[in-house]
Amino acid sequence: MDLAARNLVDLQSYVDFLESKKLLLRVTSEVDSHLELAAVAKRFEGGKAILFEKVRGSDYPVLIGLYWNRDLMATVFDCDSGRLPFVLTDEIRAWQKNPMEPVILKSGPANEVIETEIDLGTLPIPHHATGDGGPYLTSSVVIARDPDTGVRNLSIHRMMVTGKNRFTLLLEELGHVMDYYKRAEARGEALEITVNNGVDYPVLMAGAVPASAAPIDADELGIASQMHGAPIELIEAQTVGVEAIANAQFVIEGRILPKVRESEGPYAEVTGYYAERDERWVMEVTAITRRKQPIFHSILSGQEVGNAYGLIAGAGAFDKIHSIVPEVTAVHFADGSVPYHLVVRMNKIHEGSQRNAIMAAFVSLAFAKTVTVVDEDVDIYNPVDVDWAVQTRCCYERDLLLIPDAIGHRLNPMVEGDKWTRLGIDATVPLPRPEKFTRATMDDVDLSNYEIKE
Ligand code: MN
Repeated sequence: MDLAARNLVDLQSYVDFLESKKLLLRVTSEVDSHLELAAVAKRFEGGKAILFEKVRGSDYPVLIGLYWNRDLMATVFDCDSGRLPFVLTDEIRAWQKNPMEPVILKSGPANEVIETEIDLGTLPIPHHATGDGGPYLTSSVVIARDPDTGVRNLSIHRMMVTGKNRFTLLLEELGHVMDYYKRAEARGEALEITVNNGVDYPVLMAGAVPASAAPIDADELGIASQMHGAPIELIEAQTVGVEAIANAQFVIEGRILPKVRESEGPYAEVTGYYAERDERWVMEVTAITRRKQPIFHSILSGQEVGNAYGLIAGAGAFDKIHSIVPEVTAVHFADGSVPYHLVVRMNKIHEGSQRNAIMAAFVSLAFAKTVTVVDEDVDIYNPVDVDWAVQTRCCYERDLLLIPDAIGHRLNPMVEGDKWTRLGIDATVPLPRPEKFTRATMDDVDLSNYEIKE
């Protein structure tokens, strides 16, 4: 997608670009980062991106909504929104064939200013939902190094501010950072990290690529470089032995402490429910650097997380599903919801292969709860059209596949004892295709031939 060639290289350039495309709202009234900022943002969820110009008690504006609208993202990536997942799949494939190394510089925009006093309170970190345990970093990308091999990793974690120089954070059980941390902790050592706020699309999306596409021996910065269209530039950190993203807005350096656990949560998760408070991992901040005029970046928990995750997970899983059932032509997580419902489109040639497509999707995406398979004539990006297919092409007695006692997504309240029931919906027309399933169509006209007044 070669964003570098189009000069889309940092948050400042995205703001200018989105504004030129009329895809940016500016909130010029002062807002409080405690509850108010997120509450205002929520009212515009899924629409244009929002820049909060004045945040009480902070010198920095806050940008939110870069990921909550696929049309907006497609505009940035210069493609049709239906093509968006394929563009990402292509980038991951190209990187797998030909990995690209980042370059390391001494200094860059992200360390123009080195804060002399460490105080997270100077950053406009939003407290999002009413029941959250504190202000949260939601979109910052963590860089860590494998303590044995030195391979770098990109990942995103929810991080709750608990003091001037302290966070508690969630490490996912199967995540690579957890693997690094466990090995460091066994030696009584801390795991050094940089937390990069306000990175561009390639870095954030590479941080969300599933492990099935980027295994533990792979540096996700290669995927980011591929999407960027040139090697990503890193800068050396001030206090830790791991690099930071040169074009980030803020870099928070620090160490995840061994043998220390402190309370984290509750936090309003992507599910729309609160994750419970528990004893979790602790980061001690050792330095904060920033641009001279940084823009703080946040992602609103909910649709924005679902959309960003669903897009990259679907793009990462498509090749696997397609390799098992070649008749599959596209997959898409249903919009406007958490990424649990995957819609699969296929050009069915063999009756029964739609059932294999359902199984392939379940195997490829651990947390898909529902998989709906539709024919090629259904618009999988339009939930109304998908529902039309289910209502007119699915016989509930024969075409539903229930898979009880499958491993579930821990954050979902329907999971009990780690298990839930998965559902496959076959909404494809049986072969040979009966005449009565022919879709009604209108004549194909070219609207540019008509004068039409609003
Ligand atoms: Mn990794």
